Amino acid sequence: MPLRVTFLGTAGAIPTTERNPSSVFVAREGEGLLFDAGEGTQRQMMRFGTGFSVSHLFVTHLHGDHVLGIPGLLETMAFNDRTEPLAIHTPHGTRRQLKSLVNALGNRPSFPVRINEVGDGDVAYRADEYEVRAFATDHDTRSVGYALVEDDRKGRFDREHAEELGVPVGPKFSKLHKGESVELEDGTVVEPEQVVGEPRPGRSIVYTGDTRPTAATIEVADEPDLLIHDATFADDMADRATDTAHATARQAAEIANRTGADRLALMHISSRYAGYAGDHLEQAREVFAGDAENVCVPDDGQKLEIPYPDSDDA
Ligand SMILES: [Zn+2]
Ligand SMILES: [Zn+2]
Repeated sequence: MPLRVTFLGTAGAIPTTERNPSSVFVAREGEGLLFDAGEGTQRQMMRFGTGFSVSHLFVTHLHGDHVLGIPGLLETMAFNDRTEPLAIHTPHGTRRQLKSLVNALGNRPSFPVRINEVGDGDVAYRADEYEVRAFATDHDTRSVGYALVEDDRKGRFDREHAEELGVPVGPKFSKLHKGESVELEDGTVVEPEQVVGEPRPGRSIVYTGDTRPTAATIEVADEPDLLIHDATFADDMADRATDTAHATARQAAEIANRTGADRLALMHISSRYAGYAGDHLEQAREVFAGDAENVCVPDDGQKLEIPYPDSDDA
């Protein structure tokens, strides 16, 4: 089942000609999830072909570079005769501010918009096979990050062994795989443990939004497949990163190591590095414990496919 991340906007507070303000689109089995929606997000969705079928929007905080795309996006959805509801998740204490953005043009959208306030440890959205958790971040306003965490998958079914035990090919196979025991014609009972392996981990993506390095990022998901972290500054502006409640690329890599992330994507790159984010990449790779190739500073429009940890058997 494909899980694909599209970086719609990777700029810091001020956009550049190359980078749009923050927004990340996640597509999972036909479902669209949007994380932040800086100004111009709807055009980025068109440019990079994500489509507009977003069921949930997860807002990390109410700074303009993360939310000013909401009014325009909602208006386009209305022009497209959208009827499906949209849920918008936002940090505790920001409902009123978010509502004024949703109603910015004085009329309510033509489709239902539900606003859900979340805080550290809340499950913002529980889906069939995964959930999106909110976690505390350390920014200079009310803020949270989000982690998409898939449920464990069923263990691998040992087809050969099942046949050896005399289980006929057919519905009894799927019964066993679901965890039910089956009785054969000669009265033998086959238990699922005999033919189904240990549950296998699902995939997870952690998106911090703007933040200093913080412990909650490490705790929200164990060994995420992808950590998308604030890397507004390089080492030359480390003090400024602390002062303005952001992180450096190096700090992002240190957090990635502590959480055991497989891949690290650095975003929210300050406009002062317009045209060159090579130092970010180099400094993060210096400390990243995993494969250096797994650290990136995505351009707008870049896509990352997230495979299952035990890849070849989705
Ligand atoms: Zn920002
Ligand atoms: Zn901010």
